[in-house]
Amino acid sequence: CNILAIESSCDETSAAVISDGKILNNIVATQSVHEKYGGVVPELASRAHQQHLVPVVSEALKSSGVDKSALSAVAFTRGPGLMGALLVGVSFAKSFAHALDLPLIEVNHMEAHVLAHFIEKPSPSFPFICLTVSGGHTQLVRVSSHLEMEILGETLDDAVGEAFDKIAKILGLPYPGGPQLDKLAGNGDPDAFTFPLSDMKGLDFSFSGIKTAVLYFLKKNLKEDPDFIARNLEDICASVQQTLIAMLMNKLIRACNESEIREVAIAGGVSANSGLRKALKESAGEQGWKVYLPKLEYCTDNAAMVAMAAHYKYQAGQFCGLDISPLARMKIGNHGKK
Ligand code: ATP
Ligand code: MG
Ligand code: FE
Repeated sequence: CNILAIESSCDETSAAVISDGKILNNIVATQSVHEKYGGVVPELASRAHQQHLVPVVSEALKSSGVDKSALSAVAFTRGPGLMGALLVGVSFAKSFAHALDLPLIEVNHMEAHVLAHFIEKPSPSFPFICLTVSGGHTQLVRVSSHLEMEILGETLDDAVGEAFDKIAKILGLPYPGGPQLDKLAGNGDPDAFTFPLSDMKGLDFSFSGIKTAVLYFLKKNLKEDPDFIARNLEDICASVQQTLIAMLMNKLIRACNESEIREVAIAGGVSANSGLRKALKESAGEQGWKVYLPKLEYCTDNAAMVAMAAHYKYQAGQFCGLDISPLARMKIGNHGKK
């Protein structure tokens, strides 16, 4: 069984081929057009997907050694994401499947982030808790099987990746700011400055407060010292990062204690953050957890994770029709709905 998978939900155009559950490759074209705008421009993302998609798919087929005549199905990210960006991938997948008379498999991008943990061993055992942290989402997910997952808590405002990126922008760092802030934080003192820890009820998160807190903190200090940012950049980054990680870890620990689950994973772009990876490993000892960290290549958007999700859907016989349309907002566990 060979499946071609396509990812186009945001600013990465990606294609991958999976053969009998084994990922053969993962071709990713990152869009650089957004850099000068300091954030993803939706219309430019759609156009860049149109330019990149055919070469990326050709490359995936060629380097996998799987001819299109040997494909068993075509999979694509249906949502959530930018509508125009999704449309490019969905339209391509539909035409490709129709032309080759292949079944189609729709994949939820947030489920795919979680299922990235099954690309390589060791994989978590069920049930496990996954903290999915990305540019658009922050979710605590209870995963009961490859196809069954449920949200225990999520952000009520900004995603944590958005908080990283927006604070990095305030600090004058180039886009995308998350990885830049991470790098600078490595050389700073995380206890140099203190920012408030927001505490929402239950297992939900809030990240809009810290962004404002950092903004006011900088305004106040810049008044007294115009070089305040330049002089303290690494310490500010380290302190911000420590605060964001503490907010994530507090809820993760609570979710694991409440559900009595000790298998713990992180997923999504922010799971590439070195501070978060370190905090998770430290908690493994303290909390008695078995922890799982995705390879960096599978943290941010990629089609390999979409292919992995498609593999399980193929086995379960979960296909969709040519009348399917993308969904900018799409809940986890929305299988088969129109
Ligand atoms: P979603 O998955 O919610 O639709 P997305 O696909 O845009 O959003 P991803 O590609 O999964 O998100 O992740 C991108 C986010 O990850 C960006 O906000 C980016 O800054 C952040 N990120 C990537 N690497 C790091 C890092 N090392 N430290 C902090 N943040 C990071
Ligand atoms: Mg991206
Ligand atoms: Fe993503």
